[in-house]
Amino acid sequence: MRPETKAYHFDWMLWRSFDGAEKMMSGTPKEIERALEYMPHFRRGMEAFLRHGSAGRHLLTMMRAYFENILTARDRGKKLVATTFCFSPAILYAMDVVPVCLEVLTTAASMTWKRGAADYLDYCVEVGFTETSCSAQRGALGAILAGLAEEIDFIVCDSGGVCDTNANAFAFASAYLDKPFYQLNYPPTLTDERARTYHRQDYRALIEFIESQTGRPLDPDRLRRTIEEIGRQDELLAEIEELQRLAPNPVPGIYNMFIYSGRFMFDGQPVYTRALECMLDHVSENARLGRSGLHSGEERARAFFCYIDHYTTDMRLWDWLDDRGVSHLGGILSRFYSDAAPFVRGIEESAYRLDTTGLDEMIDAMAALNSRMPMVRSIRGPYDAPYMWLDDTLGLARMYRADCIVYNGTPGCRNTWGMVRPFARDTEKHGFPTHIMNADAFDDRVESWESASDRLEEFFNVRRLLA
Ligand code: SF4
Repeated sequence: MRPETKAYHFDWMLWRSFDGAEKMMSGTPKEIERALEYMPHFRRGMEAFLRHGSAGRHLLTMMRAYFENILTARDRGKKLVATTFCFSPAILYAMDVVPVCLEVLTTAASMTWKRGAADYLDYCVEVGFTETSCSAQRGALGAILAGLAEEIDFIVCDSGGVCDTNANAFAFASAYLDKPFYQLNYPPTLTDERARTYHRQDYRALIEFIESQTGRPLDPDRLRRTIEEIGRQDELLAEIEELQRLAPNPVPGIYNMFIYSGRFMFDGQPVYTRALECMLDHVSENARLGRSGLHSGEERARAFFCYIDHYTTDMRLWDWLDDRGVSHLGGILSRFYSDAAPFVRGIEESAYRLDTTGLDEMIDAMAALNSRMPMVRSIRGPYDAPYMWLDDTLGLARMYRADCIVYNGTPGCRNTWGMVRPFARDTEKHGFPTHIMNADAFDDRVESWESASDRLEEFFNVRRLLA
């Protein structure tokens, strides 16, 4: 790692970037204009937050608060736990530990800094971790392994067979840093009794593990409050998802990113509920006026992103779509499968149901919720099995009247790269033009955004999607 990178504390730099960005939202137009001149590499990203007003401010507030929680955890006597985006942090808040979601930190660095997370990604390889792993964990992990971030106390993750590269990143961190580690596992099926029993037992063992690390038992009242807050959030999400079905789609494309990053950071926390309320107000107003969520105004095409988005410097994917009148209909990360969600009508057995009647019921509900997190719900088994990736993608693409489907991941997504070609053939057979991006969502060195966007442009033109 370059000496100049080693000179700065990673978490502090992230906090400082988002603290500054949040404060900027309160500036006068002249102050904002002047400040933008000093941020050439995050100018468009910052302009997107500014354009989205209070919703943009809510996201910046959450990000600032998330990094602040990490930086101040030790002073507040709290433990820090490294975790992953497909693990709901709600149980961690309920047990009073501070989550450090590696993918959230990597994404923040990738989209904010010109150099992205490159130095940290490479540092993992320097100390022996494979470069064919997922870049989503490797960015923040590099900083942690290099001692440039707050020291974590223990690790929990949950992507065993779903994504080996994700699971290996946490196993490597545990061995390298000598930290206690618990990994939830997932059987290849979702709805049968055997899978349900496994989820519940595994989740109880996770709680015992966290109790052994904190020295404190799970507080049922705190868990109940957290689950009740999730219930409020799910209702708001269900309303947004319902409105997203309209044409034109009144939901700004970038809201999908606001929705999932908020949930990855603050599932079950009031700060996320307030962000969702704000987004729903804006979306409802757009819907009432028959207005598209695109800043370009006219909706020319609707795209469903069947995997993840693209996050390198300046968040250019959303601008690219907006400029061309392409409505982003969300993707695997923005969908949450509570029984309130419009998508699960008719397949309620594949959803989770919140229940706060007793401690056992609450733990079962959390086990069900966690097993329906992005990826661990639908990439666990054969891609074309019931409730799995193809089923969900086709169901969602139909429901949201998508004109096309776009796949983007990282070179580390071996599980989906192994099946994405037959998957795309199937989605094409069902009438959805499908584009497979070759980019790494977090690392422009794999394929530059210029090449990735050229190929996207070609896809939209050749398939006459913007006609
Ligand atoms: S599936 Fe892809 S994006 Fe998700 S954790 Fe695994 S490698 Fe990363």
